[in-house]
Amino acid sequence: MSKLLVHQFPCLSDNYGYLIHDPEADTTAAIDTPETGPIEAALRLKGWQLTHILNTHHHADHAGGNLELQDKYGCTIIGPRDEADRIPGIDKEVGDGDTFLFGSHEVRVIGVPGHTLGHIAFYFEEAEVAFVGDALFALGCGRVFEGTPAQMWSSLEKLMALPDETKVYCAHEYTQANAQFAMTIEPGNPDLVTRVKEIEALRAKGKPTVPTSIGLERRTNPFVRPDSVEIQALVGHAGSDATAIFTEVRHRKDNF
Ligand code: ZN
Ligand code: FE
Repeated sequence: MSKLLVHQFPCLSDNYGYLIHDPEADTTAAIDTPETGPIEAALRLKGWQLTHILNTHHHADHAGGNLELQDKYGCTIIGPRDEADRIPGIDKEVGDGDTFLFGSHEVRVIGVPGHTLGHIAFYFEEAEVAFVGDALFALGCGRVFEGTPAQMWSSLEKLMALPDETKVYCAHEYTQANAQFAMTIEPGNPDLVTRVKEIEALRAKGKPTVPTSIGLERRTNPFVRPDSVEIQALVGHAGSDATAIFTEVRHRKDNF
C-alpha cells in the first residue's frame, strides 16, 4: 500500500483547502475547491499536478473553483450524485456505499445528508483519514440547511462508527467558537475542558485545530454525545432519545 500525503492550507476567511497525493500513482486531488489561488499555490509548492477534484457538497465555498481548475488542469471531478446538477463540471457521480480508486487507495463514499441533501464524505480506510466537508467539525457539526435534524443525526452516527484513530479533516476552522458553545452544554466533561485549553493555546499562536479524530470527537463533541448524563440532564426531557437530544443541541447552537 502506498502512502497518502495530505497537504492542508487556509482558504477564504475560515475554510481549509486540502491536496492529497499518492506518490506511487502520481495522482493529486483537491478536496473541494474553496478558492483557486491558494490551491494553485499549494500545487506549485508541492510540485504536484492536479488530476482530480473530490467535492463534498455544492456550496460555493466547496465547489466554486471547480470549472477554473478543470479548465486549466483537465482534472476529473468526482462529486455527490444526489446534487450532481449543482456541482460544476462533475464527471463522475458517487453516493453512499460507493467505492472508487484514487491511485492505489480505495475511497469509500459515506452519504452524510443534512447540511445539504446530497452531502458526502470520503473515507480512506487504509490511510485512516476522512474528509467530511461541512458535516462534522471539531467540536461541532454543520448547520442543517437542507435536511432534517434526524437526517443529520444519522449522518453523524455513521461517521462516529469509523475507528477512533481516523483522522478527520473538516472544511472550516470553527473550533474556537464551537468550544465556547460546547462549554455551555457539557462543562463538567474533563476531556472537553482540557481540549478547550489546548484549542485556545493553538489559536493564540495562529495554528490550526484541524485535523481532529473520531475518538477525540466521541469524547468531547457535544453534538455526538447523547449518552452523556450531563448533556441529558442539561438539554433532555423525559423520553429523550439520541435524535431528540441532538436536535435540541443543534437548536441551541443555532441560537447561540
Ligand atoms: Zn457548506
Ligand atoms: Fe462550507
